[in-house]
Amino acid sequence: MEEISAVLGTLSTLVRWVIVVVGAYAVAIWWALVVWTFIDIRTRSRDFIVQGAATLLVLVFSLPGALIYLILRPKETLAEAYERDLEEEYLLRDIEDKESCPSCGSRTQGDYLYCPVCGAGLKQECGVCRKLLRLDWNLCPYCGQRVGPRVGSVAVTSEETAYQSRRATAIDSPA
Ligand SMILES: [Zn+2]
Ligand SMILES: [Zn+2]
Repeated sequence: MEEISAVLGTLSTLVRWVIVVVGAYAVAIWWALVVWTFIDIRTRSRDFIVQGAATLLVLVFSLPGALIYLILRPKETLAEAYERDLEEEYLLRDIEDKESCPSCGSRTQGDYLYCPVCGAGLKQECGVCRKLLRLDWNLCPYCGQRVGPRVGSVAVTSEETAYQSRRATAIDSPA
């Protein structure tokens, strides 16, 4: 009988230790989850109420709470959202920078004088400062040189250019 009670005593001590170790382990995991959630939600939301609710969820419900948090948490971190915003802005600016031919719709670039596909005039060069001007401008905004509007014109011949520059000079100096 004594032997049995001795074995039982050892067993109960062992069980008690196992409970203590497992309990301590569970508490450590629970606390680690709470801390992780708090750090994680702070990278995803600036809202104090959201931060508090998420942390409280894991604090009260431990592992199941953490699982719910993982499902419900904002997909993007604030840094990722910021990066995406920047990327979108760059993309938009890129699209705005790209121009298209008003006559055939081909992609052109800001410094093209003529459409490489259909030959439509896109810009004209200022005769004085050589800056590129839009065809519907009457005046060079960089140097004040008067230029005739040539809306929708196609690639002009050298004769026409010569005539136009003569005309522009005539307008500039009426005497
Ligand atoms: Zn074109
Ligand atoms: Zn000019």
